[in-house]
Amino acid sequence: MCKALVRHLLLGEENIRVEGAVIEALQRGERSIIFADIGNLLFDELACKSCLSTKGASGVFPCIYCKNVTTRGLSEHDASGYLVDVRCGDPRLFDARTDEELWFQADLLSELEPRLTLSQFREQQTRMGVTFNPDGILWDVELRAFFKPTEVQTYDSTHTFFCDGVCQKEMSLILGRLREIGQTYDVISTYFNTEWNFCAAMGGRRAPTILSEIFNKAREVHWLNTKSIGGSASDMLSVIGPFRFYLESNAALFTDLADAIQS
Ligand SMILES: [Zn+2]
Repeated sequence: MCKALVRHLLLGEENIRVEGAVIEALQRGERSIIFADIGNLLFDELACKSCLSTKGASGVFPCIYCKNVTTRGLSEHDASGYLVDVRCGDPRLFDARTDEELWFQADLLSELEPRLTLSQFREQQTRMGVTFNPDGILWDVELRAFFKPTEVQTYDSTHTFFCDGVCQKEMSLILGRLREIGQTYDVISTYFNTEWNFCAAMGGRRAPTILSEIFNKAREVHWLNTKSIGGSASDMLSVIGPFRFYLESNAALFTDLADAIQS
């Protein structure tokens, strides 16, 4: 599907790359021709996995854009220190993968497929972090001049951070630590239920309502049962700023949590 769409846009008849598209400036009645290339792909992790035939978050290499970032615990067995654990937060240690390297892996899988046994071939794909898909976009040699999988990609921050993403995960974890020092949902919601004024960027007059909805009893029960606070992307966008303020302005009281607050 991804390949068909990209081929249609870039290589199809009357494509926008060569033939262009006519746009009309309605107010002035003028017409112009625009030409376009693919300059950015906005992916969340799952879309990336589906479009580029990678193994995704559950694979040995959870990020296709990093050659040396490995799944949890694996880097401990690497004496050279090249492999980096997926929990590492220091991007200076990440070794970026190039388009050529990704295409090389795709081509290598095509070569190996008829030669290896099924289990050997499966193991090879796991080792590379790529799933063999000869109909996939990585295997389309003609598209390679126009579609650069690692160069034009941006992880979609909404899905990565706010839709059941890093923010929910981090908040779920730190709420556990706060609970250990008596900062339960009750205490936190009391803090936010005092008189606060939030600017429009922080949710304005809606913000206190959202905060009390997020730290209410039902949500607490859900969090205790699932270890996840849930919450929609817009909930998260409203809650992250005030919650961060709550942590940082009380950091002196929560000295045992300095590492967690910083994270
Ligand atoms: Zn990465």
